[in-house]
Amino acid sequence: MDQNKIDTLRAELVPSFSHLIDGRHLPASDGATMDVVSPINGQVLTTMARGTVADMEAAITSARAAFEDRRWAGQPPAARKKVLMKWADLIEAHALELAVLGVRDNGTEIGMAFKAEPGSAAGTIRYYAEALDKIYGEIAPTAGDILGLIHKEPVGVVGAIIPWNFPMMIGAWKLGPALAMGNSVVLKPAETASLSLMRMCDLALEAGLPPGVLNAVTGEGKIVGEAMGLSMDVDVLVFTGSGGTGRRLMEYSARSNIKRVYLELGGKSPNIVFADAPDLAEAAKVAAAGIFRNSGQVCVAASRLLVEASIHDDFVAEVAKAAEAMRVGDPLQLETHIGAVNSETQLNANLGFVDTAVAEGGQIVTGGQRVLAETNGYYMAPTVVTGVRPDASLAQKEVFGPVLGVTPFEDDDEAVAIANSTVYGLAGGVWTSNLGRAHRMVRDVRTGVMHVNTYGGADGTVPLGGVGQSGNGHDKSLHAIEKYINLKTAWIKL
Ligand code: ADP
Repeated sequence: MDQNKIDTLRAELVPSFSHLIDGRHLPASDGATMDVVSPINGQVLTTMARGTVADMEAAITSARAAFEDRRWAGQPPAARKKVLMKWADLIEAHALELAVLGVRDNGTEIGMAFKAEPGSAAGTIRYYAEALDKIYGEIAPTAGDILGLIHKEPVGVVGAIIPWNFPMMIGAWKLGPALAMGNSVVLKPAETASLSLMRMCDLALEAGLPPGVLNAVTGEGKIVGEAMGLSMDVDVLVFTGSGGTGRRLMEYSARSNIKRVYLELGGKSPNIVFADAPDLAEAAKVAAAGIFRNSGQVCVAASRLLVEASIHDDFVAEVAKAAEAMRVGDPLQLETHIGAVNSETQLNANLGFVDTAVAEGGQIVTGGQRVLAETNGYYMAPTVVTGVRPDASLAQKEVFGPVLGVTPFEDDDEAVAIANSTVYGLAGGVWTSNLGRAHRMVRDVRTGVMHVNTYGGADGTVPLGGVGQSGNGHDKSLHAIEKYINLKTAWIKL
């Protein structure tokens, strides 16, 4: 990546964004727009359509029509694969433009955004494009006078509601398998991170995806997201975001057509460090990166550090040193390690969590405050709080910010008990050179993904999904495909 190219792209005016409905860019039905504020400097970057219920209904109608006339699902698999492959190529060809546009409205540091956003989105789309002609139905072992066929059919119209932390990456986790299986999709990007995803949708049309197969409506979750949730014509709803919204989506489903709802919700992931870790210095660096990159706005962020009591003080000092060595600042500067918090609301919420942690007996080892306020951007120092009791707010509630709570433990049983003491179960980590202990921790810690002697970086070949209140269903890997198909039995008398 080249700083000059980034600087040129950041200086470009961002045009106003409108919906993508039936292959056309349309304003809101009532003409309303909303400001897109850049977290880099608190300035208005551009505007986008503030969607109405009518806009969402138009998008769903378009998706339904595209599904019913089989303009996409009816194409030979090789043709669909070609379009998706071309889309991935176009995302790659526009990678820096997409990454910079995304950083300008969501604030992630460019080093991470470039890899995690266009890079990973292109890889994901390609993965499912390659898979689409390798998914077969089945023949059941029936009696000789019967043929029992099990077809795998697309579900119809998929509604996808996307969060602001990694819009393109998470968008692709849903769009890749949904489109590969022949569905139509209506996308609802997050209020504070729509631009790159909307641009990525345009590239799908450029790649040859027929109009109407992919529609996207911008605006407020409580208006257009709710309309999607309550629609009688959306068959499956896929979501990544907060637990509160996830609950609402299940209610919308119950109040409308009982659509299938798949939720990837929050986490409070424990990173468990034993004194026998193979490399404590490495463990400390990774522990810091595991919570502070993208200002902690990562669903699998290692937000609870559980440290064996015998090494607690030294290890915490190492983590604090690693945190202080991370440069917070303008996310479009290549040397920045930690960019901006996505919004002022989120920044204030993060600071509130720190105040509560201190009121509940925690001690701030480093950070705890807003920084670079003179830029008017939303920046926060990476923060380490010790003395966090397992039942304290900081140990129980997802902050979604650069705040790490540290809790000591004495032995394996206590580590597992603390690790499992939240309502969440998304990710976790363990650092040990004892193979038996590593496997016991993988078995006993209740999560969807457990890292051993590393944290993060699990690629698209493996599923990601939570247990408990971290959600249901899986993104990534071939397992994600289940969400986007129906099984249909053909029972044939011979
Ligand atoms: P966060 O608190 O991380 O912003 P949210 O769950 O509020 O998480 O947002 C994730 C996505 O859910 C966004 O696209 C947002 O617009 C959408 N959303 C928020 N509220 C609702 C709602 N009531 N119905 C449907 N979607 C919603």
